[in-house]
Amino acid sequence: MRDENCIFCKIANGEIPSRTLYEDDAFRVILDLNPVTKGHALLMPKEHYKNLYELEDSTAAKALPLAKKMAAVMTEKLGCDGFNVIQNNHEIAGQTVFHFHIHLIPRYHDDKQQLVMKPCGMTAEEMDAVRELIAE
Ligand code: AMP
Ligand code: ZN
Repeated sequence: MRDENCIFCKIANGEIPSRTLYEDDAFRVILDLNPVTKGHALLMPKEHYKNLYELEDSTAAKALPLAKKMAAVMTEKLGCDGFNVIQNNHEIAGQTVFHFHIHLIPRYHDDKQQLVMKPCGMTAEEMDAVRELIAE
C-alpha cells in the first residue's frame, strides 16, 4: 500500500527526485536533506508503513541486512570512524515523517555531533518492576 499524501512514498517510488544511494524492488536509500553528518542517509521501504509497529515482518526481515550492507559500503567509501543506526517511532521519539525509515549516520572523530542519551536514574526496585512488566 502507498499513501498519496506521504512524501516518503513519493520519494521511495521515484515520483520526487532524491539523492539515491541504493534502490531495489522493495527499498530506496537516500541522502537525508538535512544531514547531521556527512553521508547521513535514510533507508525506506517503497510500501507505506507508518512506523516499526506497522512494518510487515517480511519487510522488517530485509531491512536490517540492507542497513548492514549500507553501513559497510558507506564506511568504506566515506572513511567514517563509527556509525549510528537510529529509527524513531511517534512524535515523542523524534519521528517527523510518518513513513517507516532507518537513519544511517556515519560518525567522524571530528563531527562535533551529539546524539545524546542520558540515564533517567531508576532504582534497582524500579528496574525489577520493569522487567516483571515486560518479560514473558
Ligand atoms: P524522523 O525525524 O526520524 O522522522 O526523520 C525524518 C528525516 O527526514 C529528517 O532527518 C529530515 O531531514 C528528512 N527529510 C525530510 N524530508 C526530506 C526529503 N524531502 N528528502 C530527504 N530527507 C528528508
Ligand atoms: Zn509513505
